[in-house]
Amino acid sequence: MPEIRLLATGGTIASRAGANGRYAAATGAELLTNTALPDDVRVSVRDVATIASFAWRSEELRTLRRHIDQALADPEVAGIVVTHGTDTMEEVSFLISLGHGDPRPIVFTGAQRTLDDPAADGPANLSDAVALAAHPAARERGVLLCFDGHAYAARGVRKVDTLSTHGFDAPGRGPALRVAAGRIIPLTAPARPPALPITADSAIPRVDVIPLYLGADTTLFDAALAAGARGLVLAAFGAGNANPEILEAVRQAVADGVAVLVCSRVHSGPVAPLYGGGGGASLAEAGALFGVDLSPWQGRMLLAAAIASTPDAAKTVADWLAVP
Ligand code: ASP
Repeated sequence: MPEIRLLATGGTIASRAGANGRYAAATGAELLTNTALPDDVRVSVRDVATIASFAWRSEELRTLRRHIDQALADPEVAGIVVTHGTDTMEEVSFLISLGHGDPRPIVFTGAQRTLDDPAADGPANLSDAVALAAHPAARERGVLLCFDGHAYAARGVRKVDTLSTHGFDAPGRGPALRVAAGRIIPLTAPARPPALPITADSAIPRVDVIPLYLGADTTLFDAALAAGARGLVLAAFGAGNANPEILEAVRQAVADGVAVLVCSRVHSGPVAPLYGGGGGASLAEAGALFGVDLSPWQGRMLLAAAIASTPDAAKTVADWLAVP
């Protein structure tokens, strides 16, 4: 009987409503008491944290990564499910995927409605995630995010609705599998770039996201560098454009050895070096990297992991992004 390791971290799926707002409270074992599980699966539980994901720091990340390593070191474990808050699930699942080369799946899930909501969505999401983690179709697919009957590869997945139970999508990529009426339906098999050599103990270096907005100057960019950022991600306009002032700051940062990755503040579509005058073509000429369709948050994780684990972060990012 396959063993699935459930790593519970908190989030809305584990939260109850209280007088001062919602708080994560339930353990992994409590989550399972509400959840229909496949008969032929044994679930072992570890409580990693019981907090909201918007409050995560590098400490929680390190603890989760250690638990994942421990689970994967156990040959009895056929797959892992991580229950997690939805607010940062797209970045945490992506970071985990960057270092995950094992064939066994890691499936993230959560909920938009609390555990004590009469129409809670957590139990069905957890049930789907466990079934998926135990299913052969999930092997070799890396890290998946399973929500509302759809499972997305971590790369490209985004929270697309603040409250709807269909809270996630992978714009332009779509789901990798469906979980419907007790069946797992494979849809696409996205390529898996080779895992980066990050370990649970690799420190995540400071990489800041700089938003572009009408009239943006270099104040935030300069502040990030002054705070010690080793890489910067632009949440750029449109297909990857900045402005003449930011362009000069990028040119200087790259010359000083700080990698700059261009992503878009638009939630769908790739960036491309198209425009001069502070646009993407100018940024490319100044030495910036382009993050294809990664969100700024996922781009930040890729750049940080590359800086943490390889001597030439720019080359690592470019090679990783070259795998479609
Ligand atoms: N809204 C969040 C959730 O859905 C809170 C969090 O990220 O923990 O879980």
